[in-house]
Amino acid sequence: MSSNSIVWEFFDVSAVDESKAKCRLCNSLISRGGKGTATYNTSNLMKHLDKTHSEQWAATKSVRSSKSSQPSQTAAGQLRIAAAFEAQTPWSR
Ligand SMILES: [Zn+2]
Repeated sequence: MSSNSIVWEFFDVSAVDESKAKCRLCNSLISRGGKGTATYNTSNLMKHLDKTHSEQWAATKSVRSSKSSQPSQTAAGQLRIAAAFEAQTPWSR
C-alpha cells in the first residue's frame, strides 16, 4: 500500500484527529485529504514539504530515489526544488 511513503518521515498522524497529520518540522496540521481512511492520501503532505521544507524534502527524496532508480523523476524534481529554493531565500538577494 502507500503506508511506506517517505512523507511519514516528516509527519505524525494527529493524536486528536487522524484525518490530519502534524509536521515534525514546523508543527503545522495538514489535512490528509478526506474524512475517511479510504480517502486519505499524502498529496497535501507532499505539497507542504515541497513549499515549506523544500531543502529537507529534496534531500530525503534524493536519497530514496537513488535507491529505487527513477532518474527522470529525480531530474524534474530537482528543477522544481531549485526554483522553490530560490523563491525562499530572500537573504541571498
Ligand atoms: Zn512543516
